[in-house]
Formats: sequence, structure tokens, C-alpha cells
Amino acid sequence: MNNPSLRQWLLLSLAVCITLGLGLAGYLLSETIGLRVQADAGARQLELHARAVESELDKYTYLPSLLELEQSAQALLADPASAASGPVNVYLEGLQKRSGSRAIFLMDLNGRVLASSNWQASDSFVGEDLSFRPYFKDAVQGRPGRYYGVGSTTGEAGYFLAHGIQRDGRILGVAVVKVRLDALEARWQKARLEAFVSDENGIIILSSDATRRLKSIEPLDAASRERLARSRQYYWSPLSELQPLEREQLGAGVERLTLVREDGESPPRPARYLAQSLPITDTRWHMTLLTPLKDQRREAIIHGVLAAIAFALLTIVLIARNERRKVIATRLAAREALEAANNLLEKRIAERTLDLRNSNERLKGQIRERRQAEQTLRKAQDELVRAGKLAAIGQMSTSIAHELNQPLAALRTLSGNTVRFLERGRLDVASTNLRTINDLVDRMGRIIASLRAFARGGEHSGRAEAGVAITAALGVLEQRLQTRPVQLDCAVTPATVAIDQTRLEQILINLIGNALDALEGSDAPRIAVQGLVDEGRYKMQVSDNGPGIDAHGRGHLFEPFFTTKPGELGLGLGLTLSAQLAAAAGGQLYLDADASAGATFILILPLWAPSAGSHLP
Ligand code: ADP
Repeated sequence: MNNPSLRQWLLLSLAVCITLGLGLAGYLLSETIGLRVQADAGARQLELHARAVESELDKYTYLPSLLELEQSAQALLADPASAASGPVNVYLEGLQKRSGSRAIFLMDLNGRVLASSNWQASDSFVGEDLSFRPYFKDAVQGRPGRYYGVGSTTGEAGYFLAHGIQRDGRILGVAVVKVRLDALEARWQKARLEAFVSDENGIIILSSDATRRLKSIEPLDAASRERLARSRQYYWSPLSELQPLEREQLGAGVERLTLVREDGESPPRPARYLAQSLPITDTRWHMTLLTPLKDQRREAIIHGVLAAIAFALLTIVLIARNERRKVIATRLAAREALEAANNLLEKRIAERTLDLRNSNERLKGQIRERRQAEQTLRKAQDELVRAGKLAAIGQMSTSIAHELNQPLAALRTLSGNTVRFLERGRLDVASTNLRTINDLVDRMGRIIASLRAFARGGEHSGRAEAGVAITAALGVLEQRLQTRPVQLDCAVTPATVAIDQTRLEQILINLIGNALDALEGSDAPRIAVQGLVDEGRYKMQVSDNGPGIDAHGRGHLFEPFFTTKPGELGLGLGLTLSAQLAAAAGGQLYLDADASAGATFILILPLWAPSAGSHLP
């Protein structure tokens, strides 16, 4: 399974989605937590710095009321025309220097400056009419005058604290202290704090970043703008707006702002801030702390990425573990399968071994049986050989008897006839018969010799004249031929054949004798004897028109002792011996299966060649 399946693709996609989701969640969570942490820290810092602003302001709160205790000031206010302002000026100058304030001055009920700490300076307030100032209006009515504004004489920004100086419950004039709050801005800058203080009009009066100073934090409508311009509170400042690019309210007094940051070094660029505001006690001012969110956002991104990486790693580890588990499971399964296969194999081997052992035992048994059978067979063979030898002896003796029987029969007849011819005095016929008897005895001697030679086996060579052999055979059978009116047709081509003369005669006597036997009781008995050279061999045929040979006889003709002749007439050896004699001479004897009637025996013999022949008979 090399190709990832649909399920694996889905799981992979799910893992990627979860990774991205977790990354986003990590980012959002980190941002939320980061914001909360920033907000908490910011709130504490804001509180601290707001209190610092308050204490900075409080430092000077008592100063204007201090002039109530100064007799010269009281006197000057009580009678400005007669009392000298000189000592008051000196007093105010000394007080200003000691308090670290910017200026301290005294005004009459009309708002004219009677004495001032800067009486000696060129831009001295002395003689100026500042009755239009809101702090004067408040103070002259017995309320504490608090005012931030840009000085109309100096053009310098400052915080004015005014106090109505009373005597006997009546307000004589107004004492004013001008302080500068630059130290606060310097302190913020030193602490690398981005903060500003906005007044009741929403104008930034103090700011760690000078570019934000005297800018409006809220949009100003035309009427407000007109009113502020006329009050000259901010001198001729254009009061442009500090307009955030984005603004998101996160809670009470907590906002997320995107402001254009101008630090003078690099080009203006948007920056995200957490803006937290807090009112400053005893004023209508608000202090705002700006915490840059750049780091926090970067941290959130890092946390998001880390969360995604952690999940991705976890997923990879889980996938790796899962894959490893699968591999182990596969290996275990393979090992189990191998063990099972092994067990099966061993079982089969054991079974086969058992089978083999059994078949081995069977084979051993069969071998034993075969050996016994062999022994039995050998015994039987020996017995057969013995029996065969006996049979051969029997066969030989019967052959001899058979071969000698016919000349003996002829001798018996001839000798009987000779006796009768002698008794009658027919000596010529008697002597002829005696010569024939002599020939027959010679022949019998030759037969016995040839039988002996056949029985001994070995080389059977010699030559014979075909015509002579026919004449001799017919001579032996003459008596039988004379007693029967048999038509004898002889057509023999003279030839010398390679067989012993006597043996050829024996064969022919057997064949013609059998034909005579077959023609017994036949109406027109006929025997044909032919001899001719055919295809380099000599072919002799002995035919008769007797009853022929049936199928059973054809199958057993050349078997020893097969005979159909009754009693002692047949021995069943004639054809057997004849065929063996022909075969021994290199020829053959067989029944012509194509003969239409009667029986025709064909004797094939090799022609005698002078080199093949070695001796004369
Ligand atoms: P035997 O003459 O002693 O019977 P053979 O071997 O010469 O023995 O002949 C075997 C048998 O073959 C005969 O008994 C006879 O039945 C048959 N036979 C041989 N020659 C002829 C023939 N010319 N016609 C019919 N039957 C024959």
C-alpha cells in the first residue's frame, strides 16, 4: 500500500487544518493574555504616573494661599494706590525661586497684575490685565482657579493655580502661581514611557512625544474650535487632531489604537498601542498611557507558530508511533504467519517422513517379497530347465522316430516285395528292390547323422541341388504316390541353394508328405511343386488342393507336437523341424496366407555362392 489512501489524505488535511487552527488559537489566546497582562501592568504604571502628576500639581497648590499671610501683599491689595509694590515684588521673586515655580503674581479685583516675581524681566506681568483668564474668574469668586494655558505675554505654556486672597471674609485680590510641568514630560521620556495628559477640552497639554502636544484627542466641531481660539488658551495653536487610524474599545478606559508614529528619525509609520486613561484627581484632566503592542503582537505570532509547530510535532510523533506500531504489528503478523507456516511445514515434513518411512517399510517388504519371488522363480526356472532338457530329449527321440519311420515303412514294403519277387524267380526286380533298399538304408544313416548334427547345433552350412532334392524326396514317397492317383505337377528351375542336401530333402519330404496326408479321401488329388529364383533367393512352393488349414491350425502350425492327425500318424514335429532347418540355413518356411484353396507352403532359401560354400557333402 504505497499510495496514500483517501482516508490518509483526509487525516492529513484534518491535521493541517487543526495545526492552522491551533496556530490561530494560540495567536489569539496569546494576544488576549498578552493584552490582559499588558493592561494590568499598564494600569499599575498609569496609576503610578497619574499619582506623580497629582503630587507634582499638589506641590504648588498651597503656594497662592501663602500670600494671604504676607502683610505687604495684603496691604498692596487693600490700597494699591498708596502701598508700594516693591517689597511685594521682591517677596514674590524670592518665593518663586524657592518654590521652583515659573512665576508668582498678585492681581487686584479687576484682574490687573499689581506685583509679580518677574517684575524685573522685560516680559514682566506687572500692569497686565488678565481678567479674561478663567482662573482669575474662578478665584475672584472664591473658588480655586485651575487653568492650563499658553501665556499671552510669553507664549509659554504653563499651569496656573489661582487663589482669592481674603481678609475678614472679603476677597481683596487674586494670587496666581504659574508652574511648568516640563519635568513630568522629561521624566516620562527618561522612563521611555509614551504618555500624555489631556485637559477638559480634550487637548493634549503634556506629552512624552512633542509632536502630539496641543493636539485634540477628539474631533473638534467648528463652534468649539471658535470658542477655544477666542479664549486664547492655547495661544494660536492650530489644535489639529490626533486621529487614530484604528480604534477599538477593549474596556472602561482601555482602548487599542493604531497611531501614526513620528519619531523624527524614521518616516512616519503606523504603530499599535494599548491606550489606558485615568482621571487626575482635583482636575478635569485625564492621563493616558500608550503601551506599544508591537512586541506583544510578535510574541502572539511566535506563540501561535509555536503552538502550530508543537501540534505538528505531536502529530508527526503520533503518526510515527502509529506507523511504528503498524510496522511492529505487521512484523509480528509476518512472524506469526512464518511460525504457522513453519509449524505446518514441520507437520507436513513429519507426515511425509512418516509416509516415507511407511512406504520405505512397504518397499522393504516388497523387496523381501521380490527376493522370495526371485528365489521361487529361480527354483521354478531351474525346474523348467530340467523339464526343458527332458522335453528336448523326448522331442529329439520322437523326431528320430518320425524321420526314420517313413523310410522304414518303405523298407518293410520293399523287403516284402523282394521276398515275393525272389520266390517267383524275378531276380531283376528283386535286385532293383535291393538296390532301392540299399539307398534307403543309406538315407536312414544320413538322416540319423543330420539329426545328430541338428541336435548338436552349431553351424549349419552346405549346398544342395534343388532338382536333385525334389527327385530324392519324391523317391522316398514313391510308394505312397503309387498307391494314390495323385496328379503331380513339378516345375523346378535348377539351382544350387545354400543348405545341406539331406536337410532340404527332409523338408521337402515333410511338405509333400503332409500334402499327401491332406489329400486323403480327396476326389481329384493334385500336388504342385515349384522352384524358381526370386529376388536373389530361391523360392520353392508345395501346394495341394486338399481341405486347407483352419484359423486355429494356422495359429499353431509351427508349434512342436501340434497335429490334427489321428493315432500314431501324426507327431506334430514335421513342420517344426523343417522350419528350424530352413532358419538354420538362413532361409524361412511359412504358410502362404493368400492361397485361395488347399494349402501352399513356401520355402525361401539363399542361393549358394561359391565363396559362402566351404565343402562338398
Ligand atoms: P504331422 O504330419 O505329424 O501331423 P506336421 O508338423 O508335419 O506333423 O504337420 C502338422 C499338422 O499340419 C498336420 O497334422 C496337419 O493337420 C497340418 N498340415 C500340414 N500340412 C498340411 C497340408 N498340406 N494340408 C492340410 N493340413 C496340413
